[in-house]
Amino acid sequence: MTLKKLVAGNWKMHGLSSDLDEIQSIATQAQRYPGVDVALCVPAILVERAARAVPGFAIGGQDVHHAEKGAHTGCTSASMLLDAGASLTIVGHSERRDAQREGDAEVQAKAHAALACGLNVILCVGESLQVREGGNAVRTVVDQLDASIPHDPTEEAELAIAYEPIWAIGTGKIPTMPEIAEMHAAIRNKLVERYGDAGASVRILYGGSVKASNAGEIFAIQDVDGALVGGASLKAADFIPIVAAAAG
Ligand code: PEP
Repeated sequence: MTLKKLVAGNWKMHGLSSDLDEIQSIATQAQRYPGVDVALCVPAILVERAARAVPGFAIGGQDVHHAEKGAHTGCTSASMLLDAGASLTIVGHSERRDAQREGDAEVQAKAHAALACGLNVILCVGESLQVREGGNAVRTVVDQLDASIPHDPTEEAELAIAYEPIWAIGTGKIPTMPEIAEMHAAIRNKLVERYGDAGASVRILYGGSVKASNAGEIFAIQDVDGALVGGASLKAADFIPIVAAAAG
């Protein structure tokens, strides 16, 4: 099944008021590619200003707390992100799994909370270099996926998966094309096993050092339904060529 591609930028801890012009530039140029869904996931504090600056363009957060409200100092709930104008959020990014010690059960709870609230979710999975070199990448990622994804796909909002090998994030290194194909096929099989037919329409993004020069090759792989892009999403000049590659 060919799915409409989704190219989402992850701005991580980058973005001030002075960057709203760049967001506007990305949103305006993305309109040239109506065959691709484009989104930017920005720091929570920038969501409201970004969403106001680019009405109709998908602005997302980078994490949500699993609870709706309560005594969770410094955290942001799904309904807060939605209220600020976000339409999606990332959950389970490896930088949070690592630095904030987020496990699969917590990532799953966050995904449930976001989807139930009506926020689309990009749920990240990926292996370390040690696991890749040990030959256990596929089993590790499929197990991580199985333990992290929601029990049922919802009709209120969309779940997408981002396969992001940890060792490829921000390093300029990427897996070989057959390795990406093998992983995406394994993720697809697990999604169909868990969700039946609905698993065939869950978009699977590749993330990790995607740039204009490698995007075309990556997007040509079966079951690569888009990309999660970090560094190359900060400037329209780097990001829009990736969107163009997704448009084919
Ligand atoms: C990411 O942070 O999700 C990511 C893929 O980063 P980069 O594109 O910079 O490797």
